Amino acid sequence: MNQSDGSWEETPRCRQCNGELKLVKAEGPVETYRCVSCGFEVVGVVTPRLDEFIKSLGPRGKLRVRWGGKVAGAKETHALRQLAPDLQAKSVPEALALLRVKNEWVFEEITRSQAKDLEQKATALGLESSMEFPDAQ
Ligand SMILES: [Zn+2]
Repeated sequence: MNQSDGSWEETPRCRQCNGELKLVKAEGPVETYRCVSCGFEVVGVVTPRLDEFIKSLGPRGKLRVRWGGKVAGAKETHALRQLAPDLQAKSVPEALALLRVKNEWVFEEITRSQAKDLEQKATALGLESSMEFPDAQ
C-alpha cells in the first residue's frame, strides 16, 4: 500500500495517460493545461484568483435581522421576503413556516456595503438588525 504524501495534488496529471501536464494558456482565471505525453488538454478555472477577487471586496460579516422576539407573522414574513432571496424563492406559506421556528434571520458572508444596504431596508420595514464584522470598531 502506498502512503500518499499529498504531493500529487500539486502536480496535475493527465487523466488519459497519467503524463505530466504543462500550462499552455492562461486567459484571466481560465487556464489550459496540455499533457506532454499524449496532448490531452484540460481547462480549469483557477480558484486563488477568485479568492483574491472576493478578498478585494472587503471583509465579510453577518447581519442579523430580528423581529422583537415574537413569533414571525405575515408582516415579518412579507418584510423578510423583500430582503432575502432565499425566502423570495419560497412561497409565502413556506417562508412563514420557516420563519416561525426562528427568532432571527442571518445574512452570512456579506460585505459591509451589502450589510449597510440590508440594514437600511430592514429598518425601513420595521425590523431590528445588527451587524457583525470581524474587524468591527
Ligand atoms: Zn496524457
